[in-house]
Amino acid sequence: MTATLQPAVRAELDTLASPGQDVPEWIWRNGALVPWEQATIHVNAVGHASVAAVFEGIKAYLAADGERLLLFRLDEHLDRLRQSARICRLSLPYGREELRTAVLEVVRANGYRTDAYIRPWAFPTGIIREQMVPAGTECEVVVDTWPFRSGLNKERGCRAAVSSWLRVSDASTPPRVKAFSNYHNGRLALMEARENGHDWPILLNERHKVAEGPGACIALVRGGTVITPSLTSGVLESITRATALELLNDLGVPVVEREVDRSELYLADEVFFMGTAWEILPVTTVDGLRVGDGTPGPVTRRLEAAYTRLVRGESRAHPDWLTEVRP
Ligand code: PMP
Repeated sequence: MTATLQPAVRAELDTLASPGQDVPEWIWRNGALVPWEQATIHVNAVGHASVAAVFEGIKAYLAADGERLLLFRLDEHLDRLRQSARICRLSLPYGREELRTAVLEVVRANGYRTDAYIRPWAFPTGIIREQMVPAGTECEVVVDTWPFRSGLNKERGCRAAVSSWLRVSDASTPPRVKAFSNYHNGRLALMEARENGHDWPILLNERHKVAEGPGACIALVRGGTVITPSLTSGVLESITRATALELLNDLGVPVVEREVDRSELYLADEVFFMGTAWEILPVTTVDGLRVGDGTPGPVTRRLEAAYTRLVRGESRAHPDWLTEVRP
């Protein structure tokens, strides 16, 4: 990692990469709350479990009253977990309602008075001496949580660079699946971006069109229109992206979903990432070229403000997207 890394980005990485200092009291595992220290598996199972594991990343926002937590689009995340499992032929032993109850139970048990990140995940269980875990192997389901402190600087934005690594493709390891193994691809691209003095990579797909970042989708603004790679561009079907498109519609901003060329990034008035953890993150340089005037642009700012109001329960729009957890 380079010394040029923005401190804010460094802090964000530390938060996401090593939540160890934020160990919760409880974790949910296979139907019950279990004390954190007791949620172990045999060392031999780790690698095999990881090959086929699928997961979700959900944010819980502390409401203005400092009491209630608001889970953003919980059902959509749980549906996506089931879709990822289906593509990987993992049979989840729990339905949407059971998973919903599990998430609420563990969030309540851990008593957060801060924004939190919730990670439900599923993996083939037991010691499997077979790299290609057979379809239908019994699955464990775990719901992990930790306090979330975003170190990303929405005011300053971030510096992005197109990666020499291509995004994994639907024809090999589908990026539509939220699988831990896909993050090997994002990690390679991230390390390259950091080595070259940028904050985040932008990956192109196998057709050399813009796909997404390693943990977020991407959009650009040209002449007042928001343009974002279509869902068949080699991207995760992002819930933040879907949310942003609805908010832009509410704001009267036209949106186009289509293939995006790399060179369009260089001509864009604005560029931003969209993701659960990154929220709406402005991009201020691409491959060292300033985006617009080099500061977050007006469409990005309006969208970011609308998103923040929404997730914190300060907007009356889309109340069905928030699930309240009371202490
Ligand atoms: N793409 C990738 C590769 C991601 O990891 C994420 C984060 N989950 C996203 C896009 C954004 O998806 P979402 O808005 O659902 O968090």
